[in-house]
Amino acid sequence: MTVARILADKGTDVVAIQPHRTIGEAVNMLANKRIGAVVVTGADGALLGILSERDIVRALARAGADALEQPVTRHMTAKVVTTTGRATVAEVTETMTRGRFRHLPVVENGRLVGLVSIGDVVKTHIEEIETEHRALREYIATA
Ligand code: AMP
Repeated sequence: MTVARILADKGTDVVAIQPHRTIGEAVNMLANKRIGAVVVTGADGALLGILSERDIVRALARAGADALEQPVTRHMTAKVVTTTGRATVAEVTETMTRGRFRHLPVVENGRLVGLVSIGDVVKTHIEEIETEHRALREYIATA
């Protein structure tokens, strides 16, 4: 199973925030959309960083409530690890485990075309195992 297949199921929408927006605005976005991270993109759509709930917790620990007024650029991770549609579920699992993060933007030809989360990856993995088990049970029953 590839990242492209996951995106074909879940869609290619990526929730993004502009660099001058505040942590408080990002908090509202995460809460309203019920997600754990937003990508930070420039006016041209360029990927500038990623801000997850972990970064917000760290920002609050560091700056207290003042963090809510600070720009997302101050607390985001600027060096974003990305993947492509051709990557397999096993590969993105490895990337997330090794990098200790739960979100991977998908980039094709320099353009952001989706985002996969650890939740998407786990769901796909379980579906694959269930399909395999069903096939094996059917094979045994008819053998
Ligand atoms: P997460 O587990 O995704 O909530 O993120 C944990 C930490 O890793 C946070 O500091 C994020 O900004 C950072 N992070 C999340 N996704 C990525 C990614 N794809 N590339 C680089 N850093 C990331």
